[in-house]
Amino acid sequence: MTDLELIAALEREGVHVVFLPYPKPGAYWHEQRLIIVDARLSPRWQRCTLAHEAVHAWFGHDGPCEPAREAWVDEHAAGLLISEAEYRLAERIHGSDVHGIADELDVTDWIVEAYRRRLANVA
Ligand SMILES: [Zn+2]
Repeated sequence: MTDLELIAALEREGVHVVFLPYPKPGAYWHEQRLIIVDARLSPRWQRCTLAHEAVHAWFGHDGPCEPAREAWVDEHAAGLLISEAEYRLAERIHGSDVHGIADELDVTDWIVEAYRRRLANVA
């Protein structure tokens, strides 16, 4: 999904997204149904952060979660941003080079790592 598709899907469910300078990459407030993404991040980081916060919103998480749940959120976010066909192709080009795959797919390294965990869990 692109960031515009993510924002549209969130808005349909009453979750608003704002981009402004913020001390963390992103945050979600469940009570306010509000996602904030740090506007100073690169477009790539903003999209990946938005996908992460969108998963928190869809699952009704409130505030920062424990590391295991944050990792699970990243895995779901990766599934929103990367298709398996795209991933397999990037992996064929870049092998085990996480950064190369991330560049190829225009996502962050942590999204590629989360996608790999996701594939490992499904297999
Ligand atoms: Zn989170």
